Amino acid sequence: MAKWAGSNWLYSSALKFASLNGMNTHADIHIGHSACPHDCPSTCALDVEVKDGRIGRVHGARDNSYTAGVICAKVARYAERIYHPDRLLKPLVRAGAKGEGAWKEASWEAALDRVAEAFLKAEQAHGSEAVWPYQYAGTMGLVQRDSIHRLRHAKRYSGFFGTICTNPAWTGWMMGAGKLRGPDPREMAKADCVVIWGTNAVATQVNVMTHAIRARKERGARIVVIDVYDNATMKQADLGIVVKPGTDGALACAVMHVLFREGLADRAYLERYTDDPQGLEAHLFTRTPEWASAICGVPVAEIEALARLVGGTRRTFFRLGYGFTRNRNGAANMHAALSIAAVTGCWQYEGGGAFHSNSGIFGLDKSLIEGHALADPAIRFLDQSQIGRILTGDAGALHGGPPVTAMLIQNTNPANVAPEQRLVKRGFLRDDLFTCVHEQFMTDTAKLADVVLPATMFLEHDDIYRGGGHQHIILGPKLVDAPGEARPNLFVIEELARRLGVADRPGFGLSAREHLDWMLGRRGLGTFDSFREERWADVQPDFETSHFIHGFGHPDGRFRFRPDWQNTPSPDRPPESMGTQGDYARLPVFPDHVELIELADAQHPFRLATSPARTFLNSSFTETPGSLKREGRPELMLHPEDAASLGLAEGDRVEIGNHRGEVVLHAKVFDGVRRGVVIAEGIWPNSAHERGEGINVLTGADAVAPYGGAAFHDTKVWVKAAG
Ligand code: SF4
Repeated sequence: MAKWAGSNWLYSSALKFASLNGMNTHADIHIGHSACPHDCPSTCALDVEVKDGRIGRVHGARDNSYTAGVICAKVARYAERIYHPDRLLKPLVRAGAKGEGAWKEASWEAALDRVAEAFLKAEQAHGSEAVWPYQYAGTMGLVQRDSIHRLRHAKRYSGFFGTICTNPAWTGWMMGAGKLRGPDPREMAKADCVVIWGTNAVATQVNVMTHAIRARKERGARIVVIDVYDNATMKQADLGIVVKPGTDGALACAVMHVLFREGLADRAYLERYTDDPQGLEAHLFTRTPEWASAICGVPVAEIEALARLVGGTRRTFFRLGYGFTRNRNGAANMHAALSIAAVTGCWQYEGGGAFHSNSGIFGLDKSLIEGHALADPAIRFLDQSQIGRILTGDAGALHGGPPVTAMLIQNTNPANVAPEQRLVKRGFLRDDLFTCVHEQFMTDTAKLADVVLPATMFLEHDDIYRGGGHQHIILGPKLVDAPGEARPNLFVIEELARRLGVADRPGFGLSAREHLDWMLGRRGLGTFDSFREERWADVQPDFETSHFIHGFGHPDGRFRFRPDWQNTPSPDRPPESMGTQGDYARLPVFPDHVELIELADAQHPFRLATSPARTFLNSSFTETPGSLKREGRPELMLHPEDAASLGLAEGDRVEIGNHRGEVVLHAKVFDGVRRGVVIAEGIWPNSAHERGEGINVLTGADAVAPYGGAAFHDTKVWVKAAG
């Protein structure tokens, strides 16, 4: 049986509270150390004020060289979230019709018995694949997030093909570079030009700005921001470039055209490090700035200015984000943008190169947590993003297998964040589907469940975190007790395993600390206790490895301008049984713009991007007062001329729609977006919208080629005054 973390651990740091931003000193305030668990590449190292078993203000760790003392406002005021009056504190069992909102409290024993009984019943009726454990990145802690996989392997439940975030970006990167790593992101501070492409860093990973602005202050570096609207990050740029959604590949090609045309390509680097520079140059001959401008909306002069800046600045650091890959051609867009760094050869220089994610460097062995030894390769995988189609019986999405009739959901809120929301909700309302949601708040998904279990937050359990946007492994030990009867994810997995008869299988019966002892030991990082003293480990590879000085990650060591779209391994590639995804046959031979996107048409003259709000994080923080106050209400940003042509004024109710549904927001007239493009910031709770349906009513679940993904910024819509 698992042993649960005992008394609170408080690391009595040498840091004095008084040293933190000059605030008042209280002798009985301790500083506990942790890591931000949320789905954000910054994975900040945290110093947490703790007094009398409660947290106070949360600070960025000053002595962590990436966090550098800076965190976002929403996590700084985490006490708002952890002590929120709406936190779930007891297990609940549905007491009325599905979604009606009638609940009765239950004991943990009774609630877990009910879940186990439903899972066994589903298995008996349709086979083990009728049960679909479903989780995502509400916590990024490896123990609490990923233990659910061990249960599904042990029980041969349907597999979970996680597609909602990284697949297009990682695939596009891997096609070119062959390994998922890059230059030390702290090198941004040593760059003479930082290009922040497709990520609103001010909103979604604040530390990028810390290092980029340091480069500007200390070296006079230029900051370029490329995005689909003039967002908070672009407002800090020296050169801001607004592209139309899904056209970044065209912009990248035109930049490379100018680099070749004006003698700014590093031909010696190209010969030594890339697969087909002559073929690329010939291909790009027709990809002129004029050609690109007609597609992406960026004026020719801006394209040429960007090319001359990056081509004339050896230490150019391309910080490539996820946002611009959330299109049906997203993998191709990432590959095209990444290719620019190979044409300029900026990889050779400190402060130069391209960075997207360091997720390939950490080497933490998750096989015990995830139960790899228990996996049966014959079991089907189901696409996370296509949950609506799966729950409504789409035979293709079910891969010819049985219906899903039972689910356990941890760390995610698909009734709000998944595309094709009407299908998702219709599926959850099926009478023959049993759903258990383990959550911190009564989310849109929890509202549709049969059993709701209260979950801990990160400061209430032990775990470990990896910084995809940097190079630290950071421990997050339990600092305070959970309120009410909230329990960690691992507790639920262990208790269900016991009831389902698999608790004796490898990996079960361990506490979180025992899992961490095993994992840290395998990585040569000691034990939970010794690592607690260290707080984190910096595992950035050396300069040569990080900059691919000895060759890129493909067998021939060359960067690939000609991707092998069907065969290059991607970290998120589905198992062979899933095959290649989306319209992969149309992916380009060389970097290019490919019109796989949902193009505007006569009925849908606008294209919608659903960009992140500054103080929400996906569907998290949508309940905290500070975030709600800042974000106001769901709004649609649209160009003044588009607003005028539609007879819309600031604040008007506006309806946007397509063949998937309609949503009402309020108009925000805004000249920082191209005509024909509209932006809805933030994934507001469905209930925040007039009709109780959220923005993802409009987004589609078509797989992004070639290995899946959700195209959240690739949606054609009509826009009109709401009736
Ligand atoms: S949400 Fe991102 S920026 Fe904010 S504290 Fe967490 S990791 Fe840092």
